[in-house]
Amino acid sequence: MGFFRRFLLSTLLLGSLIFFDSFPSARATEAQKSFAWEFLTSLSEDWIPFDPHRYNQAASQSFLAKPSRLQRWGVVGAHAEAAYNGILRTLILKPELLQVGPQGRQEIAPISELKERHGPVAFVRASTVIHELAHAEFDRMVLRPDTFVDEFLAAILVQDVIPWFERRRQGLSLHPWGRVAASEFFAYFRGDFVAFLLEELELVLNFNGLSIYHPQRCFRSRAEGEEGRFNLPIGDMRASYRDQYRIHHIWVQGKDVDLREGGTDPFLEIWQKLLWDQMSMALSQPQSRQDLVEWLNAHPTWTKRLQSCQEARTQPLIFNSVGS
Ligand SMILES: [Zn+2]
Repeated sequence: MGFFRRFLLSTLLLGSLIFFDSFPSARATEAQKSFAWEFLTSLSEDWIPFDPHRYNQAASQSFLAKPSRLQRWGVVGAHAEAAYNGILRTLILKPELLQVGPQGRQEIAPISELKERHGPVAFVRASTVIHELAHAEFDRMVLRPDTFVDEFLAAILVQDVIPWFERRRQGLSLHPWGRVAASEFFAYFRGDFVAFLLEELELVLNFNGLSIYHPQRCFRSRAEGEEGRFNLPIGDMRASYRDQYRIHHIWVQGKDVDLREGGTDPFLEIWQKLLWDQMSMALSQPQSRQDLVEWLNAHPTWTKRLQSCQEARTQPLIFNSVGS
């Protein structure tokens, strides 16, 4: 089957699957909670909405290790912040990203703890962790698919994406370069999306007088509309993230790969849309700024902060402290 016929089929099928298929909405049982569960739920419940089950499943098929032992074995470099090793099926994270959980087991620290330790950089760390979890998902779930959408994506990766990267390896002779590059393409798409969505959240909060980094702070808002609800100008809300969100650079084994190299390669645009559709199936993330605003309006902590901010705004100061 030619590429464009495959693509046409994919948009039709993925579109209908996303519409009709339901996500695993039941909470994970105690036994299903992986070392990533606390981190994933803390990030998705309060900061960026996504379904944590997919990454949890990827983590439960992987191991967690601190870099020291693996550095001694030469598996990871001395300066790696985080890494995923596909052969060992192991996520390698520095101790400052970990904590000892209630059962005495090492786990990824929740975002509240990462904020305590790292301040605003905690969100950059969160995006790195998601990047590594995405490598695990790619290895364990996309390339060993048990859903139609993963199977389809795997076919496109093997037939089109990996060869596309192979043609750009530019003399690098490391054996599975195209496959490694495809895995990075997938992981950057997922990790950078965390940063993208946090920027979107910051924009919406700022417009309504709140700050993402100091949720107890409150300043004058430009928003007009119903009191006690997050608002944005209507024209701002409708643009679809599927059309907006793109990644332009990835790092593959220390080499910067500019995805726009070679100009107007239509495949890249198509693949990014396919990655978007597969992410929608896996994570059920917001599809637009409007979705994000609706999530905020249904979130008791954020609406309470907004109400406190609006009540405090009668005072002439630019910055007011409000209750959390
Ligand atoms: Zn990576």
